[in-house]
Amino acid sequence: MEKFVYSFNEGKKEMKELLGGKGANLAEMTSIDLPVPAGFTITTKACAVFYETGRRLSEEIRQQISEKIAELEKTMGKKLGDKNDPLLVSVRSGAAVSMPGMMDTVLNLGLNDETVEGLALKTQNPRFAYDAYRRFIQMFGDVVMGVKHRLFENVLHQVKKEKGIEFDKDLTVDDLKLIVNSYKQVIQQSVGKLFPNNPYEQLEMGINAVFGSWNSDRAIVYRRLNNIHGLLGTAVNVQSMVFGNMGEDSGTGVCFTRNPSTGENKFYGEFLMNAQGEDVVAGIRTPEKIEKLGEIMPQNYNGLVKIREILENHYKDMQDIEFTIQQGKLYILQTRSGKRTAAAAVRNAVEMVEEGLITKENALLRVEPGSLDQLLHKQIGSKKGVEVLTKGLPASPGAAVGKIVFSSEHAHAEAEKGGKVILVRVETSPEDIEGMDAAQGILTARGGMTSHAAVVARGMGKCCVAGCSDLNINENESTMEVNGKQLREGDIITLDGSSGEVIAGKTELVEPNLSGDFEILMKWADEYRKLKVRTNADTPKDAKAAIRFGAEGIGLCRTEHMFFEESRIKAVREMILSETKEGRERALAKILPMQRGDFKALFDVMDERPVTIRFLDPPLHEFLPKEQKDIEILSQEMGVNVEKLKEKIEELHEFNPMLGHRGCRLAITYPEIAEMQSRAVFEAAAEIIKEGKNIVPEVMIPLVGNSKEFENQKKIVDEAAKIVKQEQGVDFEYSVGTMIEVPRGALTADDIAENAEFFSFGTNDLTQMTCGFSRDDSGSFLKDYVKLGIYRQDPFQSLDQTGVGQLMRIAIAKAKLVRENIKLGICGEHGGDPASVEFCHKIGLNYVSCSPYRVPIAKLAAAQIAIKEKKEADEVLYRELVKETISGLRARYGDNIAIEDLEMELHSKINAEAIERMSLS
Ligand code: ADP
Ligand code: MG
Ligand code: MG
Repeated sequence: MEKFVYSFNEGKKEMKELLGGKGANLAEMTSIDLPVPAGFTITTKACAVFYETGRRLSEEIRQQISEKIAELEKTMGKKLGDKNDPLLVSVRSGAAVSMPGMMDTVLNLGLNDETVEGLALKTQNPRFAYDAYRRFIQMFGDVVMGVKHRLFENVLHQVKKEKGIEFDKDLTVDDLKLIVNSYKQVIQQSVGKLFPNNPYEQLEMGINAVFGSWNSDRAIVYRRLNNIHGLLGTAVNVQSMVFGNMGEDSGTGVCFTRNPSTGENKFYGEFLMNAQGEDVVAGIRTPEKIEKLGEIMPQNYNGLVKIREILENHYKDMQDIEFTIQQGKLYILQTRSGKRTAAAAVRNAVEMVEEGLITKENALLRVEPGSLDQLLHKQIGSKKGVEVLTKGLPASPGAAVGKIVFSSEHAHAEAEKGGKVILVRVETSPEDIEGMDAAQGILTARGGMTSHAAVVARGMGKCCVAGCSDLNINENESTMEVNGKQLREGDIITLDGSSGEVIAGKTELVEPNLSGDFEILMKWADEYRKLKVRTNADTPKDAKAAIRFGAEGIGLCRTEHMFFEESRIKAVREMILSETKEGRERALAKILPMQRGDFKALFDVMDERPVTIRFLDPPLHEFLPKEQKDIEILSQEMGVNVEKLKEKIEELHEFNPMLGHRGCRLAITYPEIAEMQSRAVFEAAAEIIKEGKNIVPEVMIPLVGNSKEFENQKKIVDEAAKIVKQEQGVDFEYSVGTMIEVPRGALTADDIAENAEFFSFGTNDLTQMTCGFSRDDSGSFLKDYVKLGIYRQDPFQSLDQTGVGQLMRIAIAKAKLVRENIKLGICGEHGGDPASVEFCHKIGLNYVSCSPYRVPIAKLAAAQIAIKEKKEADEVLYRELVKETISGLRARYGDNIAIEDLEMELHSKINAEAIERMSLS
């Protein structure tokens, strides 16, 4: 017979999947003799069975529950429904993964018109008994019978008003009796059912309700938002009640073994005297700081401090503890690993290693890599009292304060004068780069998490709120309307790129701190990780920031950004508009020295670290103006007539530019572009080498889908290198590789690898082309796809491992057949996503490259997967050792091996093994 119900003294903390987190920890605390009120747990498996049998408890499960109730009655010396001394219980939910506030709890179960009298008599406190009864009917009515909470509140309010009472505590026994009766009427009127008097019926209804709450709308949404999958259900804990509301020697509270917001190793918590659990959270009364308990009830406080120590040493992690004091006796009602800010997580992890509580490996596993983002940017000091105007997508983290500007020119002009601005656009385009660079933060009305604004802002480490559909921007009048509020250029707003909030007015920002615990943790990560971490950076400024965050090279330098700068765009346009090769070459000759300067500056900053330079990628029309007035200005500058110019722009227009004339296709039609870029790279390298430093530039050809494309481009690069070497009279090394971002490129990777020395997976385009989702248009339906579970996550944010990842595996396997040591990396947005980094480690990439601010995240994620792998390997090794030892002993002693012998033998083997390994490393 399957066991569906476990007493608290039958479980342990490792049984979370079956007993839920709350149940497993109640059992664990019971086993180490902490004062936990007795009870039992109905398993998550029973929850699954509950749903299989049409939302009913099976006969078998009901039978097991009755047995445990009888056992609990015996332990407590009280009986459910006893008129003289009733057993009262709580019915509490608890899944394997904590889902705070998502499911239901009922307290004081077992009270009815008769048992309440017994409780009054036994406690000599009728007021307490009737207050407990009133609370029970209210909770039971709300949670189990589905009566609106508000209806009960109305009754309570009404009675208080009639009696002229302000606080609940001033209600008399008669008042409470009146309320109890009205509550029952409310239930009957509202749902047409009587409040059940029978405690067994109450219990069964309570258990059903908790199991039912597993599939409430809010619980389902919570699981989806938090990526919680594959759980059986919730467990139900039935526990004898203890009361914090039995007078001034009773109370209840919640505490953390360390400060959950700063991480400081100091007891932290809140409590209320003469109150029941939910009062602390409900916020009706303001709780006291935990230290105060030391003054009021020193003995209980010391007991609690002792338990803080016991629990932390036992769980080796910061704990979040619920306690209740009933007439001077302390009880613990829950413990779990405490939720904490990123700052606290880092500090806890580092300090616990220093305290000898945990190993470095476990410390590294403790910190959620994605959460580090919070630490790397400026933050809003306090959000108390701010006016949130609206919320968009949290596209790039951090916070920014500034004056609203509606155009890049204005952003630029304001910034020149030293002003701080927020660039507000319907959406951004490459033309806005300078304005974005000048702004403190970027706000757009349209576009998703991988829109131009989002990607560029993340690259710049600049805060960005995107896709804020509540904004009605009127560019002509330089105003915008948001939820009825009118704002104009120059008005100050604050953006929170980590939450997506847009806040009216100015708020105080605080600087990130990259030293201390953070630095220590990153150093530890470096010791463990196998993947190298590079950055995507186009400018010396970004590169510098990335180095500060620990980048080991540049994995993607996009050269087109260098073309947009005001001083150059003219020459770029001249090149595009030239009808002849000579004309183009003349224009390119103007760009060459500037581009060479860019590369030189970048090489300088990178100080001998590897740099991958990608050749021009976007379609040419992106460099041309769209607005009539800009076209007119250009026509004057270039001395070309407006009509002719328009014709040319029309000619360059493409129906599907993402699949159009871009990437290596550009330089295949216009080889002089690749020639110029090659010269710029190599001449810069030559200068560096002449200065006595070294650099091995890596030239990356974009959008290759056919090995012939690559050969075509490589020839140009090699030729240029030869010429530069001759002209400059220096020798240098370089390599030429390609981005794998076209599915055909992945499928023919062996052909391409014949000539390509490295691959970098451009997973943005690869995702776009493999899934057939336009990066710019998929925002509208991908949200629904994720909601429906068609894709578990947006494939542009977290690599689609089954689809796109499969192509990567194929490409790697094929490439290695012809070039065993080919260097492999990734430079899509995914390079900074922890789950994708883990995948990159597993498929054997050499490095990931991500935006500067994601470098620490990638490093930590890389360390975590390396540690996890090591732990798995250790476990396999250990199991083999045990097996080997046992069979060795069997051979010697037959079947009668004493456990002590086994233990001794194992110890010496493990020690020998460890010594061997140490001497190897
Ligand atoms: P949640 O998961 O929402 O915190 P809980 O099951 O922990 O729900 O319970 C809600 C509140 O009721 C908590 O404050 C808890 O301490 C209190 N509580 C639960 N069971 C008991 C009990 N047996 N005796 C006293 N208080 C209890
Ligand atoms: Mg709780
Ligand atoms: Mg691309």
